[in-house]
Amino acid sequence: MLPTIIVHGGAGYWADELDAPKSEFIIEAVQIGYDILNSGGTALDAVEKAVNVLEDAPLFDAGRGSHLNIEGMVQMDAIIIDAVTRDFGAVAGVEQVRYPISLARRVMQDTPHKFIVGTGAEKLAAELGIPLVPNMWFVTDAELAKYRLRIASGTHDTVGAVAIDKDGNIAAATSTGGTSHKLAGRVGDAPLFGAGAYADNDFGATSATGVGENSMRILLSKVVVDQIVTGKDAQEASVAAIAYADSIFDDSQLGVITVDKQGRVGAAHSTAKLACGWVNTKGQPQVSMKEGVHADN
Ligand code: ASP
Repeated sequence: MLPTIIVHGGAGYWADELDAPKSEFIIEAVQIGYDILNSGGTALDAVEKAVNVLEDAPLFDAGRGSHLNIEGMVQMDAIIIDAVTRDFGAVAGVEQVRYPISLARRVMQDTPHKFIVGTGAEKLAAELGIPLVPNMWFVTDAELAKYRLRIASGTHDTVGAVAIDKDGNIAAATSTGGTSHKLAGRVGDAPLFGAGAYADNDFGATSATGVGENSMRILLSKVVVDQIVTGKDAQEASVAAIAYADSIFDDSQLGVITVDKQGRVGAAHSTAKLACGWVNTKGQPQVSMKEGVHADN
C-alpha cells in the first residue's frame, strides 16, 4: 500500500509570525519520515525520526524549546507505540535526554518494562548510549523570558507523528516538555498509552496534544481509534473525538492527528490552531496551522 505520515507540532494559540518558521520544521519532519517510508522503511522508524527533528527544533515544546516548569527546569515525557507488536515504551520527567522519543523506543525494545521515569530513565539513557546534554541545552531564550515574566504560554506545542508503512503497519509517537509553569514532577497525557497516543494495527493511530489534564481523563487517542472501529475514516474520527471532548469539558483545548488503516489522514482541534503536516496522495508535503487536513489528503 501507499505509505503515509502525519505529524503535529501542538495545539493552541501563537502569533501568526511563527506560522512560517514552524511550518519549515514541520515540513522537514514530514519529509524525513516520508523518505524513510518511501524507501521501504518501517512506520516505527518514520515516526521516531520525524519526532527527533521536532525535538531538536526550538519552536516546539519537546526537547530543545520545552516549556519550563515552576522551578525553571525542563522535564520531558514521551511515548512510542509499535502497533505490529502491540507494544509501547514511555518515559516521564526526564532531564538531559536529547531525544526522549528514542529513549522511549529503547525502553520498549531493550528492557522488560514499558514505562520508566526520572533519574532511572536518565541512567538507562546513559547506559544505552542515548545522547545526554546539559539541561540548559533545552532552554531557549523565548522560554526563559516567559518563565522570568511568569507568562503562561497559551500554546501546547507538544510534537507527535503517526504513520503507516508499505506493509500496512502502523506506529505512533508523542514527545513533550509538558505545560509551562507545571509543578515539578507533573506528568501530562503525552506518555500515557491511550491518552497521548494510541495505535491499533487493524484500525489506525492517533497522537494528541493540548491540555493533558483533559486528554488523560478521557483517553483521548483511544477515543479517536474507537471511532475508526465504528467505521469512520481518520478525519471523521478525529472530529468526533474532539466533539466528544467538547461535550465533557467547557474549554477542552485539545488537538489530534490520525492515520487510518486505509492510509487516510485526519486532524481536528478545539484550540485556535493546530500545527500539522502530512503528505498528500502525490507524496508532496502539506502543512496547516488552522485549516486542518485538506480534501486532497
Ligand atoms: N499535552 C501536553 C501535556 O499536557 C502539552 C502539549 O500538548 O503541549 O503535557
